[in-house]
Amino acid sequence: MTAATTLPDAVLPEVREFLAAEHLLLIDGERVAAADGRTFETLDPATGGRLAEVAHAGSEDVDRAARAARAAFAEDSDWRRMSAADRGRRLERLAALVEDHAEELAQLETLDNGKPVKYARAVDVASAASHLRYFAGWPTKVQGNVIPVETPHTLCYTLSEPVGVCGQIIPWNYPLLMAAWKVAPALAAGCTSVLKPAEQTPLSALRLGELALEAGIPAGVLNVITGDGETGAALVEHPEVDKIAFTGSTAVGREIGAKAGRALKRLTLELGGKSPNIILPDADLEAAIKGSFQAIYFNAGQACNAGSRLFVPHQRFDEVVSALAEQAAQTTPGPGLEKGTFVGPLVSAEQHERVAGYIDRGRDEGAELVAGGGTDLGDGGFFVEPTLFTATSDDLQIAREEIFGPVLVALPYESLEEVAERANDTDYGLAAGVWTRDVANAHRLASLLRAGSVYVNTWSPSDPGAPFGGFKASGIGREHGHDGLRAYLETKTVWVSLR
Ligand code: NAP
Ligand code: MG
Repeated sequence: MTAATTLPDAVLPEVREFLAAEHLLLIDGERVAAADGRTFETLDPATGGRLAEVAHAGSEDVDRAARAARAAFAEDSDWRRMSAADRGRRLERLAALVEDHAEELAQLETLDNGKPVKYARAVDVASAASHLRYFAGWPTKVQGNVIPVETPHTLCYTLSEPVGVCGQIIPWNYPLLMAAWKVAPALAAGCTSVLKPAEQTPLSALRLGELALEAGIPAGVLNVITGDGETGAALVEHPEVDKIAFTGSTAVGREIGAKAGRALKRLTLELGGKSPNIILPDADLEAAIKGSFQAIYFNAGQACNAGSRLFVPHQRFDEVVSALAEQAAQTTPGPGLEKGTFVGPLVSAEQHERVAGYIDRGRDEGAELVAGGGTDLGDGGFFVEPTLFTATSDDLQIAREEIFGPVLVALPYESLEEVAERANDTDYGLAAGVWTRDVANAHRLASLLRAGSVYVNTWSPSDPGAPFGGFKASGIGREHGHDGLRAYLETKTVWVSLR
């Protein structure tokens, strides 16, 4: 067993209490141990110490959870008989409870994931609440249509019905927020859910499940099962699961997509990226440099839409690179609970090793290291310095593969057409950025770039109403907004002869 972490003094009593309690599965409104009694440890990335011991769901537990979700979806269940308005009110109450517990949830997220607590509060928790609140408004707006069919004396109308039981699998980079992105539209549509958080960060999802019960969301509507990839695989394969929603790596997404295809389950996938961020020669350089820094180093680069390939016009290359290098050199990684931390530790020893491996590879394949590169910061935490490489070839592994850490590759270019082509020369297509003062070039690139989101003179603004998702190997379907809701609805067409 790993030695326990030391909790800093700033940790709230309610967080200490939650951590000290048993972390059981949440199935049908009850907290239950895994059928075979298995548990696993979740660690504090700032120290490498054990934070908590969590129940490890096996296939028997997945089966229990899926069946509980099916029962909660039965035609005569409380959930199915509840009015749309009431469903919305309970989601609204859950949003309010997330806000009431903001500090507690933020600390829990920081302890489990490593991220700076001020961002956990201002981004993760705040956005989770606004996501729930946005979708709380949808249940009363889900409508069908009357179709003006040619057949005489006939009424033809459509209904938008919930898809059913959803298996929702989420990653560790924004644990609570990813849970909200999944749960909010599913519940707004009237579905039920089995949510599987990542093994590195299981705690905030368990807390969200408790708050959902407190908000009056009936038992069995939201079940939370903690475990590993095998738990996720069992959920994907379970016959009672009608729809799968997954966020995570492209490799696992492909596997899940193949299984869902065979079983003809509904599917949305939000996968990886290697997003290009393009500075045009006429850009406001100060804003572009600041934005490009945030684009890669926020959340220690552990973002699917991180701006990890920076394209800089050759005539501004040295200026931009030296400004970024200077800023990176001044940014020392630190524990998320320490005031002033901008870059926290990476989530796990495994991710730390992966990112360190890419930094070594970058050096080996001839990229020039101009800032950072340090990965052995010597205090047990999984820290990596903000790292900046320059390169002249797009074919280096560090310029093509998703690193998912604070590692940026800057590449010079000559012309707009050339940079658009190079930006699109990737299997991914999640996001892209453009920095320019020229309106025509901004829209021209927004049209040329093959990505689900294009950011102009900003990076990664987000709103629960604005669709988010990937082109190509970055995913299938969209989250957020009406598109996000529709992924949880089936259309039924009803024909009635009026003769
Ligand atoms: P991952 O393996 O894709 O994990 C994502 C989620 O899927 C976790 O809940 C994971 O469970 C679960 N899972 C793993 N294998 C599964 C399977 N065969 N069937 C069903 N569910 C399964 O991602 P990771 O290993 O944590 O991270 C690896 C890389 O993925 C990162 O370095 C990064 O490149 C990418 N990533 C992308 C995103 C994104 O937002 N697009 C987020 C995180 C990671 P366990 O974690 O409990 O095993
Ligand atoms: Mg952890």
